[in-house]
Amino acid sequence: MRLGLFLACSISAVIAQPLGQLPKGKVVLIAQPHHDDHTTDYGMGGVIARFVESGYKAIYIRASNDEKDGANSYGVNDITNLKETRDAAKTLGIDEVISLNWRNDFMNPIPLNELREQLILLIRKYQPEVVLGHNPWEHYQKNPDHRQVARALVEAYWLAGLDTVHPEHFKLGLKPHAARHFYGKGRLDWGLGQISNVALELNESQVQKKERAIAAHRNVYHSPGLRRATQARLAAQGQHIPEFDTATDDDASDLNLHWWMNHNSRGIGAKAGVKYAEDLYYMDATYHLPGLKNYIETNARKLP
Ligand SMILES: [Zn+2]
Repeated sequence: MRLGLFLACSISAVIAQPLGQLPKGKVVLIAQPHHDDHTTDYGMGGVIARFVESGYKAIYIRASNDEKDGANSYGVNDITNLKETRDAAKTLGIDEVISLNWRNDFMNPIPLNELREQLILLIRKYQPEVVLGHNPWEHYQKNPDHRQVARALVEAYWLAGLDTVHPEHFKLGLKPHAARHFYGKGRLDWGLGQISNVALELNESQVQKKERAIAAHRNVYHSPGLRRATQARLAAQGQHIPEFDTATDDDASDLNLHWWMNHNSRGIGAKAGVKYAEDLYYMDATYHLPGLKNYIETNARKLP
């Protein structure tokens, strides 16, 4: 009985998400391995749209060349996915897309320090207050590109602020730059490990932008056969979806993405007590100094 009560309390503590506010700033830098990672469901398309609507300039770094994502040859997948990344970025209001072109799904053996240096250089160049990426401590992550880029990014987030790290950058006119806020995305449905610790509320427009952004990735997400396959499967059970009776194959594919994004945004929102949200793992500038942070919260006074 006592164990059951303990488990119930633990689970509810894990599921409830505190609602966060956007930090003040001018630049958000998003670094992900793939063409679609800034738009996916357990992700950040809505949060990016919210940062942009709040006045932030957004930069997107695609670390891999996405050559294996899609049914075409490597070269065609690379170019098509890069074009569609730019289309999606435009929908979310992202200013610039930078492609590092490391080989897709072959990032395990690349020198981590080399990838990390590229990210340090870009952080110093664009001077973001906010960095967005994958949560490097997310458990059960099978994708080697996600693991590698997440680790390099969180290290770069810290090291870019140190004047002893890659001092050769300073000959280019760059300076050390410490971004103050890191947000990492992760999936709880792959198992509990390091989990999200904040939810950011989205409005209707931000969810719609997120839906349109993922639909821009037609090379991998457009599925014109979905309508007929779904209706055939349902018909065998004596059912149908009325929307699919009248939709074209193309429209049904977009409807599926709308339902997918909406469903997940609502589910995360419900945990935080709002209609729509995305949840992320957040580290502020004082996350590693909890004693000082607590002391400041209770003891800091206004300057005379
Ligand atoms: Zn990815």
